[in-house]
Amino acid sequence: MIVVVGSLNVDLVVPVERFPVAGETLLGGDYARHRGGKGANQAVAAARAGGTVRMLGRVGDDAFGAWLSAGLDADGVDHRGVVSLPDAPTGVAFISVDACAQNTIIVSPGANGRLGARDLAAHAFDGAGVVLLQLEVPLVASLRAAELAKAAGALVVLNLAPATTLDAEQLRHVDVLVVNESEAALLLGIDAADLADRPERAARDLTTLVPTAIVTLGASGSTWARRTTRTAEPAAGRVAGFPVTAVDTTAAGDAFVGALAAALDGGAPLEAALRSANAAGALAVTARGAQPSLPTAEAIEALVQESRS
Ligand code: ADP
Repeated sequence: MIVVVGSLNVDLVVPVERFPVAGETLLGGDYARHRGGKGANQAVAAARAGGTVRMLGRVGDDAFGAWLSAGLDADGVDHRGVVSLPDAPTGVAFISVDACAQNTIIVSPGANGRLGARDLAAHAFDGAGVVLLQLEVPLVASLRAAELAKAAGALVVLNLAPATTLDAEQLRHVDVLVVNESEAALLLGIDAADLADRPERAARDLTTLVPTAIVTLGASGSTWARRTTRTAEPAAGRVAGFPVTAVDTTAAGDAFVGALAAALDGGAPLEAALRSANAAGALAVTARGAQPSLPTAEAIEALVQESRS
């Protein structure tokens, strides 16, 4: 079983010709409402990829919260650990998209921001094979979840998004760190351009912080490194991406991480799990939106098999 501890948001997206300046009122087009939040996206991604998933998080006791829980339900995610708070609104991302497809985003974390370390109970992690974390809930909650997950014997996977810097002490319960190139560059304190030239090196360097590091590389797939002993050079490799026609890269990372968790929970070795994760990320970019574009286990498997033939 996979336990996801993270955020749930409603994304409200409004098209505009151009962005307003301070004090200005503009008319936009019809807004659209989507289910989002990295926690919920990754929970749905893992469930569609074949995992048995339980989600822990916070929403408001309002219509948006009920709508998000209904979405998890539809994807078979156990959301009994998603608690509705009476005194906080559900998290909302207010997104405007201009005529050049640029966007501005204001995230109001609402109930997500109220998840505290003490809200997490040890028994919520009983039976977990993989515990999947991101950083859209308070850091204390993610770090406590990592600690409880480790005590329960689970493999702790952290997707370090949104990008931030954490030290080895904060990362001590993390088994597998997943970062994209800009997150890796920030964490290592190096230039993103340097990293792009030598991503394998970055993955290796990250094993000074965690036992296994994965750097996602967009269309190029992903690279990994695993610490063997503290002194020896880490083992490392690259898993090629799947060539697809990208129409919308939203949620590629979430599809990747969810599918990775499902594969690792199912006992797949790392490189096989990364092939599934790359396939899930590739499929996600071929369709629009976040949760609607997350692929099923059948679609992931078909793409993996197709590339073999
Ligand atoms: P993020 O969306 O978090 O910035 P990436 O852009 O690295 O992360 O994408 C995550 C994963 O999704 C990649 O490792 C890759 O497997 C897949 N992916 C992303 N973009 C493409 C693409 N254009 N073609 C094929 N696969 C892609």
